[in-house]
Amino acid sequence: MKKQKYMTWHSYFMSVALLSSFRSKDNKTQNGACIVDPNNKVIGIGYNGLPAGCDDNDPQYWQDQDDSDLTHSKHTYVVHAEKNAIYNCMLHNMTGAKLYTTQFPCNTCAQAIIQVGIKEVIYLRKKQHDSHLLINQAVDKMFKAAGITTTAYKELDVSDASFIKQLIMLGENEFN
Ligand SMILES: [Zn+2]
Repeated sequence: MKKQKYMTWHSYFMSVALLSSFRSKDNKTQNGACIVDPNNKVIGIGYNGLPAGCDDNDPQYWQDQDDSDLTHSKHTYVVHAEKNAIYNCMLHNMTGAKLYTTQFPCNTCAQAIIQVGIKEVIYLRKKQHDSHLLINQAVDKMFKAAGITTTAYKELDVSDASFIKQLIMLGENEFN
């Protein structure tokens, strides 16, 4: 007899994104992303981190207090999870794909998402403080123009959403 209770696609893919985020060495923000083709196959995953070859132990790459010197700011160096997921599946056709991400994309990730043909973004969290409101607006404008839909994970009808909560707690308590 078929098992009656099993994980939904949405929870499955967001779990993959969340699990990937735990690999990030950024001590403030761990993000993950997972790209899924129209046949529900995972074609790319990624998390925020330094470009290949950059030494994770070099503190110059990780400073985030003062952006006046961009040579000492993580914002100059760290590759966002969404872009890493895209880079990790460059050989696949991403037309019509879905992207699951732990954080609503920033403007440059949004540009990349649009340019590779991704059509749907499902996100777990969205930064709401003042400094991000205008960026979020700009992203919404670009996504609307490109015909990309965005959905907050919590707005999806997922009966097994508690699993994601457990994963988040695991990430916060055990891996940090
Ligand atoms: Zn980004």
